[in-house]
Amino acid sequence: MSANEGIVFNIQNFSVHDGSGIRTIVFLKGCPLRCAWCSNPESQLMKPQLAFNPMKCLTTEKCTRCIDNCPQGAITPSEDKLIAMDPAKCIQCHTCAEHCAANALNVYGKLRTVKEVIREVEKEAAFYARSGGGMTLSGGEAMSQPGFSVALLKEAKRHRIKTAMETCAYAHYDDLKAACENLDELIMDIKAIDDEKHKKGTGVSNKRILENIRCVIDEFPNLPILIRTPVIPGFNDTEVEIRSIVDFIPVRPNITYELLPYHRMGQPKYEYLGMEFPYAGKALEEGVMERLRVIEREAIERFKKAQ
Ligand code: SF4
Ligand code: SF4
Repeated sequence: MSANEGIVFNIQNFSVHDGSGIRTIVFLKGCPLRCAWCSNPESQLMKPQLAFNPMKCLTTEKCTRCIDNCPQGAITPSEDKLIAMDPAKCIQCHTCAEHCAANALNVYGKLRTVKEVIREVEKEAAFYARSGGGMTLSGGEAMSQPGFSVALLKEAKRHRIKTAMETCAYAHYDDLKAACENLDELIMDIKAIDDEKHKKGTGVSNKRILENIRCVIDEFPNLPILIRTPVIPGFNDTEVEIRSIVDFIPVRPNITYELLPYHRMGQPKYEYLGMEFPYAGKALEEGVMERLRVIEREAIERFKKAQ
């Protein structure tokens, strides 16, 4: 894959999160982390993935288009009148999804060129101009496709579109730096300070993440940076955990902080992809966010005073 093309799994217009104003979010596939609570399981692998939503299937009583068109004979009717797929036979050609009129079979991820993506992003240029918004790269992890991400940011800039990127900061520093040089805003996550805890929850050490965050903050003193923490039940939903994160962040005028409460909106996608959801049944206890918001407000005040 050249820097001119990459795998995108969604382009979402009219977002008011993940950056200033009205934004178009470009979701890139591929992520080096495996957070047990991930709300975008379709983003993790760096390749297009077939998904099946049984709620949309017309049932094999009324439709057998996927079965009839699969060149491998990998799909058969199941006892509950839905379909069963044999992963050993499937070659991921996605012909079945092309023939599914009900959109029950769907492919997450498509190879897109920089030009195609920017053409789509540019359609909302009037909204960006009025609201101070622009394009945000997200994922997955945008830095999993560093050449493509930086090319997208540069092309957006060339089209006078403001840029933001949301990253877990688990990347080669040179890639992160190249992205920052083409950004108007940066959003980075800190999920935990304790390395063992971080490894347990996300599958990777946080050493590189924390080092990258330190370096970016030092090297880009004029880049607005939002540090965010997803509040995860049983992982970091205590005052001690959140305080340790807030205490790590240097107090600088270009930084602010935000907590994101855990949600389970991504749960159905695990089923569609045939994956287990490790966080099934878990939820934040009542009152947790109110308690943690006190620390968030204190941190925001501290950063404001530095301005
Ligand atoms: S083509 Fe779609 S709607 Fe028809 S049986 Fe297959 S999955 Fe269901
Ligand atoms: S992706 Fe291709 S091989 Fe796999 S089930 Fe669909 S049509 Fe068959």
